Amino acid sequence: MPGVYQMSVDNIVRECSGVKSMGVPAVIFFGIPEEKDEVGSGAYDELGVVQQAVRAVKKEVPELVLITDVCLCEYTSHGHCGIVRGNEILNDESVDLLAREALTHAQVGADMVAPSDMFDGRVAAIRAILDENGFYNIPIMSYAAKYASGFYGPFREAAESTPKFGDRRSHQMDPANSDEALREVEQDIREGADIVMVKPATPYLDVLRRVKDRFRMPTAAYNVSGEYSMVKAAGRLGWIDEKRVMMEMLTGIKRAGADLILTYFAKEAAAYLDERR
Ligand SMILES: [Zn+2]
Repeated sequence: MPGVYQMSVDNIVRECSGVKSMGVPAVIFFGIPEEKDEVGSGAYDELGVVQQAVRAVKKEVPELVLITDVCLCEYTSHGHCGIVRGNEILNDESVDLLAREALTHAQVGADMVAPSDMFDGRVAAIRAILDENGFYNIPIMSYAAKYASGFYGPFREAAESTPKFGDRRSHQMDPANSDEALREVEQDIREGADIVMVKPATPYLDVLRRVKDRFRMPTAAYNVSGEYSMVKAAGRLGWIDEKRVMMEMLTGIKRAGADLILTYFAKEAAAYLDERR
């Protein structure tokens, strides 16, 4: 992905201090472990890469809000979001590990955890383990309405998380269905989600608006890697005015009801807004 890099812990501290000074209020961490295994051990290792990064950044840039991705797919050798037996992905076993992962993130200083898998019951399990350990104030941002989308391609390459077999269609939603999204969001709110997310953003602005209108919850939209890369590619070819299209895209997402936007454009958008101030 243009302008997007994997970083070591010392580089991420420098990067975070830079983005904070540009006016970006929050970042989300995705981890790439040194080694992947069947059960995604790196995800819930107290000395895992995300745990180390959170600790280091919190120390140097305490005001930056640190959100952590909670999933196993970057950590498993097979690239699935949970534990696999045969050709089956096991829900409950996976949920236990995700809860452990979220707890280790809170313990090192994460301000918010964001479960990006789509297993049943994971928000409730994460809420329970956080509360049991005294982390009542750590909010959960759930990837509540996550569509099976072609727009994730560039991220999967960047995060080395393309499934080695099968795909994630069994637990991501059908792009043609918007009622299901409302049911998924409602379920996550019932389980204790504090912020609900719609992903991807621009092809699903109607879903975003429905979610915002129906539930009146803090609502996030994830402007995913494919949305970003298309603008970058067309900009590079001189087919569009990249900055203008970036701002129009982000404005559209905001207009559709997003309170938070997760975007690879964050730094560029912050710089653009700063220039015009
Ligand atoms: Zn995943």
